[in-house]
Amino acid sequence: MKKELFQIEKTVLDLEQSHLKRVLRGTNSPSGVEIEFQGRKILNFSSNDYLGLANEPFLNECAIQAIEQWGTGSGAARLICGNLKIHEQLEEGTADFKGTEAALAFSSGFAVPIGVIPALVGKGDTVILDKLSHACLIDGAKLSGATIRVFPHQNLDYLEKLLKESSGKKLIVTESVFSMDGDLAPLSKIVALKEKYGAWLMVDEAHATGVLGGRGAGLIESLALSSQVEIQMGTYSKAIGSSGGYVAGSRKLIDLLINRARSFLFSTANSPATSAVSLKAIQWIQSEAGKKRRDLLSANIRLLSQKLNQISKDQTFLDQQSPIFPWIVGDEIKAVALSQRILERGILAVAIRYPTVARKKARLRISLSAKHRVSQIDQLIQAIL
Ligand SMILES: *Cc1c(COP(=O)(O)O)cnc(C)c1O
Repeated sequence: MKKELFQIEKTVLDLEQSHLKRVLRGTNSPSGVEIEFQGRKILNFSSNDYLGLANEPFLNECAIQAIEQWGTGSGAARLICGNLKIHEQLEEGTADFKGTEAALAFSSGFAVPIGVIPALVGKGDTVILDKLSHACLIDGAKLSGATIRVFPHQNLDYLEKLLKESSGKKLIVTESVFSMDGDLAPLSKIVALKEKYGAWLMVDEAHATGVLGGRGAGLIESLALSSQVEIQMGTYSKAIGSSGGYVAGSRKLIDLLINRARSFLFSTANSPATSAVSLKAIQWIQSEAGKKRRDLLSANIRLLSQKLNQISKDQTFLDQQSPIFPWIVGDEIKAVALSQRILERGILAVAIRYPTVARKKARLRISLSAKHRVSQIDQLIQAIL
């Protein structure tokens, strides 16, 4: 009778009937702008591999060398005996990249706020989140036991109201480039507010790292706010092309997290190969060659903005600075149908729908890579017309 109790079949059926059931679809090739998807060669506009580093020959080579030097696994958590030199080098490289005293690597980006937020706040404190914050930020806040308050997306008046009302330690949490909307948080204004009300600020740069800023470190670098954001976080899994997550901040913060962030403490250290690749990629992104690759991405962002502006009736992409373009359809069924129609034309831009985004805000999430060619962007436009 257990099955009845948990209502598994019914839950899945309900999802199916409301067009919200997801299934895993197979990809039989490495990450890239052209991949084999469900047995067909298609053009990929759904990846977060913004710089095309997830299958880059010099990084593949770096992984192979790291395996030869360190083996495939780390063997234990960092505090037991899994703390390899390569982990410390990665953290020094990350702190340097982010302009902070120190950094700490986690097994994934998701694991970062799950460990960090509960290490900093608890019952009696307040976590204040932008409404569109990523699931891991919300879950980290929930896990902390602090009071959770949410402000409508980028509504700073509302944020200020919440700051006035809230008690205990106050932690503001936001993304810098929003993962499903591609827009930028008004970080300078948020910094001013958090200073005014004595709050701390945690910024998730998952989609800004490797994309924005003079050295490619993100929006915080671009706005020169590094010394004013207490907690910077992000992932090595998107533009950096590897895997794992990080937090960057003061030495004292990192010392505390080494002792208190449970998703760090009780999880095996990242594999040496991914750590070596993350470090190499961060260094490369800041180099001349990396700058050139980032310029290619910027050129693609400008091109797609222009083209979408031409074909769109009610959406504008004039201000577009990130490689994430939300092509809002609204209705879930229509969004899925559009995604299916362009897939038949060999183009992958996945429909994103509830619960990843609000109901009736379903969209194609189009994401660009530095490696997309002009002709491929034209193909995308032809397909969605
Ligand atoms: C992808 C993502 C994460 C999680 O990073 P992973 O390394 O994939 O676990 C965290 N925050 C945001 C905003 C993301 O988009």
